[in-house]
Amino acid sequence: MPDYRLDTKCVQAGYTPGNGEPRQIPIYQSTTWKYATSEDMAKLFDLEASGYFYTRLQNPTNDCVAAKIAELEGGTSAMLTSSGQAANFFALFNICSAGDHIVASSSIYGGTFNLISVTMARMGIKTTFVSPDCTKEELDAAFTPDTKCVFGETIANPALTVLDIEKFAEAAHAHGVPLIVDNTFPTPINCRPIEWGADIVTHSTTKYMDGHGAAVGGAIVDSGNFDWMAHADKFPGLTQPDDSYHGVTYAERFGKEGAFITKCTAQLMRDFGSIQSPQHAFILNLGLESLHVRMPRHSANGKAVAEFLNAHEKVEVVHYCDLPTDPYHALQQKYLPNGSCGVVSFELKGGREAASRFMKALKLAAIETHVADARTCCLCPSASTHRQMTDEQLSAAGVPAGLIRISCGLENSQDLIDDIKQALESI
Ligand SMILES: *Cc1c(COP(=O)(O)O)cnc(C)c1O
Repeated sequence: MPDYRLDTKCVQAGYTPGNGEPRQIPIYQSTTWKYATSEDMAKLFDLEASGYFYTRLQNPTNDCVAAKIAELEGGTSAMLTSSGQAANFFALFNICSAGDHIVASSSIYGGTFNLISVTMARMGIKTTFVSPDCTKEELDAAFTPDTKCVFGETIANPALTVLDIEKFAEAAHAHGVPLIVDNTFPTPINCRPIEWGADIVTHSTTKYMDGHGAAVGGAIVDSGNFDWMAHADKFPGLTQPDDSYHGVTYAERFGKEGAFITKCTAQLMRDFGSIQSPQHAFILNLGLESLHVRMPRHSANGKAVAEFLNAHEKVEVVHYCDLPTDPYHALQQKYLPNGSCGVVSFELKGGREAASRFMKALKLAAIETHVADARTCCLCPSASTHRQMTDEQLSAAGVPAGLIRISCGLENSQDLIDDIKQALESI
């Protein structure tokens, strides 16, 4: 759907029914597909023909929705995974093996930090973490001869730092490796990292893309820009024959546009099986159909709440890149000019005690470990995810005891502000 604008792609990309076919994407509720001859099926197993045989690897419902996400991000191919965790693991493991190395921003989602620093370390993959605010020289110094990719989040969850995508892309490309960007918080409505040099984009579709707190899922999009063959020695998995598929060489057979996703499906989905169910893909697509309508509202509500909090005497500091006082405001102006997202974090004067009273007094905003839902929700890390830590440990981790993260939903912004106002009065 190359000639349409983003809004139209949200509604219609990925699926074009033929004459007399269903208007809505059909849910292919089938584990397997029927073939007339063994030879027909053999062609699929040899990757000589494209088609479906088993839903652990591919399903047409998923592929329609993945194609829509690829169009929204401006990529050439995409796949859905069972969760955002699976998307980031697959994107990294598709090009990293034991002995390899990753350069990652230190300001990333806790689940991804654990995945990289603990679980992938056990697989023999090492990571050097750099501050998203590092200088070009500090970033260059993090690379080793074994580095296979660079990883960061456009807007980090929960720190809300903004990644200088061009700076990270230039460093990655100077070292002959791709930049992988987790674009969960802005979604392609507010930022398209491929336009700034990212090579692979990942998503937790659980968040704004679904947007209704209904279905856990993930997605990986390939820009089709990274030239694997130009760095063939670094990426043997893409540039040398795969014995498990009769010697196919992905980068030769499927080109820059298709090699990464084809290998990821053929090998990792085959072996790990972390596919999104077609039911979830259908629910995800319902969310995508209104993503362009919802994101501006989430962003406007986030900004209104951030501005209110920023002017309140009981609030120590607000983290929201759209505020001119925020350290990431210049990067927001560059990469997210139409707004960032609905997630705001702020620190109350009065620490843990004040935070606990505030949370108890909220009526509209629910206490949840979720973000990016149509319904406003909030979380106090010192009372939940980080509750084993002392006040000193919390400060050192950049999560002060009085910190609260609020994810602004789609309600009326004045109702949200009134709720926050009365909760602040209770402290
Ligand atoms: C939630 C989240 C993830 C993990 O996604 P799940 O769908 O929960 O597995 C990864 N990255 C970011 C930025 C997230 O917010």
